[in-house]
Formats: sequence, structure tokens, C-alpha cells
Amino acid sequence: MTIFTGVAISPGVGMGPAWLVVDPLELAADPAAITRDQIAGEWTRILASFEQTRRELEDSARRIEEQLDAPLAGIFRAHGMMLDGILSSGDIETELEALIGAEGAVRRVFRRLQARFRALRGPTQQRADDVADLGRRVLRHLGGVDGSSVEHVPAGHVLVIERLLPSDVVPLSRRGVAAIVVGALASGAHAALLAREKRIPVVAGPPGIVHRLRSLEELLVDGSRGTIVVSPDAETRRVFQARVEAFNQAAVRCRGACLEPAITLDGQRITVEANLGAHDDVELAIDNGADGVGLLRIEQLYLARTLPPSEDELFEELRALTAPLRGRSVTVRLLDVGGDKPVSFLPLPVEPNPSLGRRGVRLLLEYPQLVRPQLAALFRLAQELDVRILVPMVTLEEDIRAMRVLFDATLETLPGARRPPFGAMIETPAAALSVATIARHVDFLSVGTNDLAQYTLAAGRDDPAVSHYYDDTHAAVMRLLGIVISDAPGMPIAVCGELAGREERMPELLRLGFRSLSMAPGLIPGAKELIRGMTSVR
Ligand code: PEP
Ligand code: MG
Repeated sequence: MTIFTGVAISPGVGMGPAWLVVDPLELAADPAAITRDQIAGEWTRILASFEQTRRELEDSARRIEEQLDAPLAGIFRAHGMMLDGILSSGDIETELEALIGAEGAVRRVFRRLQARFRALRGPTQQRADDVADLGRRVLRHLGGVDGSSVEHVPAGHVLVIERLLPSDVVPLSRRGVAAIVVGALASGAHAALLAREKRIPVVAGPPGIVHRLRSLEELLVDGSRGTIVVSPDAETRRVFQARVEAFNQAAVRCRGACLEPAITLDGQRITVEANLGAHDDVELAIDNGADGVGLLRIEQLYLARTLPPSEDELFEELRALTAPLRGRSVTVRLLDVGGDKPVSFLPLPVEPNPSLGRRGVRLLLEYPQLVRPQLAALFRLAQELDVRILVPMVTLEEDIRAMRVLFDATLETLPGARRPPFGAMIETPAAALSVATIARHVDFLSVGTNDLAQYTLAAGRDDPAVSHYYDDTHAAVMRLLGIVISDAPGMPIAVCGELAGREERMPELLRLGFRSLSMAPGLIPGAKELIRGMTSVR
């Protein structure tokens, strides 16, 4: 039995056989994979897989060009040219001479190129990621990737992976993964936040952990303490098993009091709503006592797609998702991508500082063709449901003013349509400090403390190296929250970052004047109970 200690990212306990997902580019080449007379056949396989990759890239380029943006299509075409260059360089043929087989030769060549670009300074460094991505595509077509990918994790297994993406987490929760061990992950990262919402225990590290675990060996993962036990003895296993059962039992939906409103001792009603993603279970949130949905993140409708969804697709998806709300309101946030949430149909150049770059409303204003279908779908939904529309990552008054113009113009195309409330996220210090100017253009505000903390403390929410700086309860963040309340009098203001669900900070949030909190559904029963024992007096 071996015990490793990493960082506790998502609380809870889970156990099961390890399911290792390794980067196909990182696998070692077998030095005697083929014989001399197989070289020609391997070369033919390589040519076919390059051709398939090329066609795939051209297909993406064409669709992006037709439906989104011509210059973006050029990026896919440039990748196609890069692929041609690699094939005609003769490097792969040279590697095949070493009898390592098609997969081995492709891996070696792409890895070498990746390392070469990585060693360069400046913007060409981004090519390293592009080359690696191309290499993985070619390997996929070669069929050289075994079944051990994120999509294949069997239920009850512990996923062991170097990097975890937000788009991985939701399918994993549906597949019934027992826990996750990740090479490195910061607790403010979106993947971490989603894992907590989905009650998947996660431990990050210690460094090199992914290479120290073997496939299918039994793991006990404690996401509350940050420990991983490998090949446990019978007694440790027995005790842990009991903890896992208790953890799973606690997931049972709450009944009774949590469905009642949360009213403080001095008679103040506090709205407690749910933060949800586009593939989440709204019914479960309601069963947990959600008064509504305070933040619906729609990024999942866009991730892993080759083109953005159309207005009709968005309308149908959101309509089906929100059907169980029955009169409760839903605050839908417009697409918030960029930064740590890239989407495949927007292959934007990597920025030197993605969190400080073109994300949220900045990206939306640059691609209004992405905004119109969202607004039109939401306006249609608003005819049958209490929908509110929220704009992410506002910094300047101009951001919200320009979005408002787009909002009004789109509404005008639907004569007689009911106008849903229009709101801004306050998640940058500039927006908090100049909230009065932003408030002029909106009907409500919602404070995103996850980003507000990262920008206030100058610590990336997805950077484990500065996790100790990333503190969403820091006095500087709390002070900004106070400023938002006092500088936007009379404006409905919610808190929807993780801070809203931190029980120890709830008295302070109420004292500051917040009356609406939105949090992970699992936290709602506890929050409501706590509020009932508090006073809201400032
Ligand atoms: C936030 O930043 O606090 C927020 C709610 O949005 P997200 O976590 O999706 O960036
Ligand atoms: Mg945010």
C-alpha cells in the first residue's frame, strides 16, 4: 500500500481501478514494431491518415468560412499546409527505416517538431500546440490510439489524467466515474468548479503522479483531504468503503424544508438559486430547493462542436433544459469563451495572457454573428418563461452599451416580443469600481467572484502555481463587493461565483446587502438552513 498526498480540489471520496489516459503523442515507440518488408505498407497507412486529416481540416475551414468568419477558416488551411510540409520533409520515411512502425514514426516526428517550436521565443511558440494537435489527429486516423481515452472510462473507475478540461467533466459525470486524479489543476479552474458541482472527488498531484500509477491498480481517492491510496490493505479498504457509502448516500435529494423559501430571523427573504451548465439536471436542482437558476452557463452547447449551434438548435436545447422550471426564473449567460475556455470552431491565436485577452463580451462584440442566434433563441424562450439575459466579462461601460445596442436591435426583429431583463456580470475590478456607469444600461447585475478574485489578486484561477494567492474571500474582494452594493443602489444584484456558496461567508454577504445567491445545487439545502438562523442586518 502506498499513499500519495496532492491538493484537494473537489471534496468527497471515491474508489476503483485506475483508468490511465495518456497523451497518444507521449507513448514510447516500440523499436521492433515491424520488419523491413512492412515499411511500404506502413508508409501507405501514413499517407492515408494524412489525407484523412487534411480532408477533416478542409471540411472545418469550409464550414467556418460559410457560417462564421473567413479569416478563421484560413487558420485551418494553414494547418493543412503545415501537414503537407511535414509529410514532404522526408522525416517520417527516415524514422520508418528504424522499424518503429507508422505510429512510432509519426509520434517521433511530431514530438520533435513540437519541441523545436517550444524552444523558440515569442508567438511561434503557439505552433508547438498546433503541431501536437495535428499529430494527435493523424494518430487518431492511423487507429494508433488505444481505447484508453476520456470517452471510454468505464463506470466506477478512477480517471488518471495529466490535464483535465472543462469539456471532459460533464461526460465523465454521466459515465459514473468514481473519482479523478489529475497531474495538475488549480481549484479556481472551470474543470475544478464543474467537478465540485458534479460531486466528483478530485485530487491534483503530487507532481509526476500520472507516471507513478499503473492501469487498473486499485485507488482510494480522498478529494477532501487530497490523498490517494494505491493498492490498499484490507482494513484501509473497509474503512474507506464505509466513507464512500456515506458520501453517496448524502447525494440523495433533500426533502421538506429545503423546498421552502429561505427567510432570515428578521424576515428578509433571500433568493437561493442554482448555478447550472447546459447539460445539467434542472429537476435535481429544483428538488434541492433552488428558487430558480441564477446562472445558466451555456458553454457546453458550444464545446466540442465544429460549428456553433443555430438559433433553432439553441432554442430547442434550452427549451428542453428549462422545461422543469415551471414558473421559476432562469438567468442565462451569453457565451463566455476565450481565456481558459477555448472552443474548437474559433481557432484564435493563443494570446500571451489569455485571461487578460479576448474573452467573454470582448469576443462576442467581435463576432456579433455568434450573439444574434443566442439573443433570438432567448427572446423566443422568454415568451414562455421568465428568462433573464446576462453578459459576461464586462469591463468598460462601452462593453455593455454596445451589447445593449445589439440586444435592442435583435429584439426589434421580433415585433411584439416581451423584452426580458438584461444584465451584466460584475467580475472585473474595473466593473466593480465603476458599477454605477454599467448599471445605467442594465436591469440587474450578477457578481462573478471567481473571476473577480483572479483579477483582484492577480492570480490565474487555473494556475496551480499561484493557488495560495487565489483567494475569493480576501478582504480586497469583499471590499469590492461592498462597493458594488453601495454604488448601484436600487439595482437587483446577485452573487453567482463560488463565494455565494461558502457558508462561512454568508453572514457577511447578507450584511453587505446581498439578497440573492446562486450556487452549486448540492449546496442549496445547507445554505437555506443556515440563512434561516441568521439576521440580515447591515
Ligand atoms: C465567475 O467568474 O464568478 C462566474 C460565475 O463565472 P465563471 O466561473 O463561469 O467564469
Ligand atoms: Mg466568470
